[in-house]
Amino acid sequence: SIDNIIPLHCRKVWSKHQVKKFEDNEGFQQRFIGHVETTLARSLYNCDDLAAYEATSLSVRDNLIINWNATQQRITARDPKRVYYLSLEFLMGRALDNALINMEVEKPDGKGMESSRALVSKSLDDLGFRLEDVLEKEPDAALGNGGLGRLAACFVDSMATQNIPAWGYGLRYEYGIFAQKIIDGYQVETPDYWLNFGDPWEIERNEIHVPVTFYGYVDRPSGDTSTLAPSEWIGGERVLAVAYDFPVPGYKTSTVNNLRLWKAKPTTEFDFAKFNSGDYKNSVDQQQRAESITAVLYPNDNFNQGKELRLKQQYFWCAASLHDIIRRFKKSHKPWSEFPEQVAIQLNDTHPTLAVVELQRILVDMEKLDWHAAWDIVVKTFSYTNHTVMQEALEKWPVGLFGKLLPRHLEIIYDVNWFFLKEVEKKFPKDLGLLGRVSIIEEASPERQIRMAFLAIVGSHKVNGVAELHSELIKTTIFQDFVKVYGEKKFTNVTNGITPRRWLKQANPKLAELIGQAIDDPDENYLLDMSRLTELAKKADDPDFQEKWDKVKAANKVQLADLIRDINNGVDIIDREHINNTLFDIQVKRIHEYKRQQMNIFGVIYRYLAIKRLLKEGASIKEVAKKYPRKASIFGGKSAPGYYMAKLIIKLINSVAEVVNNDKEIQDLLKVVFIPDYNVSKAEIIIPASDLSEHISTAGTEASGTSNMKFVMNGGLIIGTVDGANVEITREIGEDNIFLFGNLSENVEELRYNHQFHEAEMPTELDVVLKCIESGKFCPDNASEFRPLTDSIKQHGDYYLVSDDFESYLATQELVDEVYHGQRQEWIKKSILSVANVGFFSSDRCIEEYSETIWNVEPVKPEE
Ligand code: PLP
Repeated sequence: SIDNIIPLHCRKVWSKHQVKKFEDNEGFQQRFIGHVETTLARSLYNCDDLAAYEATSLSVRDNLIINWNATQQRITARDPKRVYYLSLEFLMGRALDNALINMEVEKPDGKGMESSRALVSKSLDDLGFRLEDVLEKEPDAALGNGGLGRLAACFVDSMATQNIPAWGYGLRYEYGIFAQKIIDGYQVETPDYWLNFGDPWEIERNEIHVPVTFYGYVDRPSGDTSTLAPSEWIGGERVLAVAYDFPVPGYKTSTVNNLRLWKAKPTTEFDFAKFNSGDYKNSVDQQQRAESITAVLYPNDNFNQGKELRLKQQYFWCAASLHDIIRRFKKSHKPWSEFPEQVAIQLNDTHPTLAVVELQRILVDMEKLDWHAAWDIVVKTFSYTNHTVMQEALEKWPVGLFGKLLPRHLEIIYDVNWFFLKEVEKKFPKDLGLLGRVSIIEEASPERQIRMAFLAIVGSHKVNGVAELHSELIKTTIFQDFVKVYGEKKFTNVTNGITPRRWLKQANPKLAELIGQAIDDPDENYLLDMSRLTELAKKADDPDFQEKWDKVKAANKVQLADLIRDINNGVDIIDREHINNTLFDIQVKRIHEYKRQQMNIFGVIYRYLAIKRLLKEGASIKEVAKKYPRKASIFGGKSAPGYYMAKLIIKLINSVAEVVNNDKEIQDLLKVVFIPDYNVSKAEIIIPASDLSEHISTAGTEASGTSNMKFVMNGGLIIGTVDGANVEITREIGEDNIFLFGNLSENVEELRYNHQFHEAEMPTELDVVLKCIESGKFCPDNASEFRPLTDSIKQHGDYYLVSDDFESYLATQELVDEVYHGQRQEWIKKSILSVANVGFFSSDRCIEEYSETIWNVEPVKPEE
């Protein structure tokens, strides 16, 4: 304990020099210059924007660390139940601006607190820097692929904001998601070495290191041959997990939680056996291999690749995190039976399911608990969030690979499965088929596989989907048999949400301010209680307010046009004069056939051909513009590097852009843009600028979506299918304020079935588009380039049902044009009413639901 370290009489000296937070300009500037001159070893004469960014971040971080320490001390003293959010991805984006918004300082007049952003901006001005330039120097922490990783980032923000004693646990990848370049229209991946200049936000904790073992064999010292008996796993390879901490500040609270990411390092133990036998190189190689574990994030979204290194990452992270969690639990000397009253662990997808097995191993093998007593603790501790029903995304591991890397864990999984199947058999003695269907081990050819989702269900007390439709679907499709076994109550729903601090206040400060004025909340407390936005509805018909609302949107569109000009080497694509008369139609998300960017670009081609046809028939440009008014179709998103079809879709978008944007005849009526390297900080510019965004997945495939919520929160309307959270968005904002189209999920199976037996029936509109693509119009040098895309629809069963939804998609787009161009006030009203009713999608609501219905945790508030 501390008592043993610092003698009592010395503590007075410590308290005399207690570190203080900066609270005014003077204080900030002093810290800033201190960091420039000592931490960075620079000076007034060589402090550039990057150094200013680093010094600003370090100064702000100092304040956060003081609050972080107080938070941790408070939690340690009260010893409440804690939440541990295990996610292999945290797509955090930039930290500085968010910290400035969330962290408060005293108001200059001493009357209460305010966000520190204004203070830091003014201080930087005085020092010769612009906050905007300084913020731009920060690279994104892009340790995630898309929705799943960004959800984890929103959740840690909300948990801190609500003073929930919570920790995030993940991996500190040296390389985050690759940077996307577009060369000749093709995606080219380049490494994202985001730590190039170091990261001022991370706190390296070399003193917190956990040894993690792989391979080896299992021994049972007692001589007991039962795998249920305490066993010893003699590992072969050993690496160290070193902790890196990232402070997570809540909004309008002094609570600062911790995101702990692990980095793999070699152990200092050297393999002397190898060394002495002259195999020096191999012993060094083995050490170096350690670091490869946390070198790179796997760049697949909604797809399971099954690589050994990925399994290594998963175990490395689960073992280190559990070790940390258990160390903390043991500090309070409570019996193991109380573990589930002290600890809730949430599995973000199946990636951390090994933690279930690892806890059972620790309890049985190391803590010598009886198998069943241990398993009871495990199940009460864990809960699992499912993120997909698509087969290709469900994690499975071949038992051979698994058993080689984690021999004891494989034994435990077999035993867990054995007891589980016995229970099932007891309940349903005559249903032999059921046993095979629910078994954690799949009797697959050529090799048995471990079904990680099934293991996660068996090892958890609650399983949730991420939107109502999705949570219903998992109960009737992939987990149907488990509902039979466990009953409905184990399965629940927590519809996803997003943090309004980043996705409204930070991304769209003008709109946040306008809302604050409109609902008489200039301090923006509504960001903590988004139900207050309903007061906006009163203003939906007010022409003055509509005008202000529209001006904010127009300004945001200018910012996006600037970004597009920058990526196009300074040449404008979007006509500046007509920005407020051009519908910005945006689809930004990972490129995936199920998300149907192909349908969007087919729609663009249809529009282009229709414009050309009218012109050819002799219509004037004005007449054409009546039917097809100005529109910019904007795309962005990364494809997994090995996903051929997704990459081809990117190429098609860029090829269409090339033709359309250079066609003088259509006079800017239509523009097509692909924004390279979509990431969180680009999203913060793109999303506030949308008039319309597309969430058009084949019904039943998108579990929730979260960008749909972000667009609505920023006053954009949605064109979408009845899928994922679109359903609840419609319920909340009203069906008059969203453009829905397409087949329903209950019809998908039958439609797919029919495609197998009938020659695809192409609607004429789609036929025209596909023929145009096949003619080589967009790839004159290689006319068959896009054949795989057109064939997938015409020849290979149109799995994503583009042909079934295309006509209603086009018809709905026509309706969009009519309202946007013909009834602008109506459009703005829809936009205001959408924002007024978007409150449900705050991630604060999600955290309340998880806390109450799954984790059973309470906030620990700072003293007032
Ligand atoms: N990528 C980034 C950078 C995001 O911010 C988001 C969410 O807004 C996503 C991906 C997920 O988008 P969607 O929900 O449309 O799949």
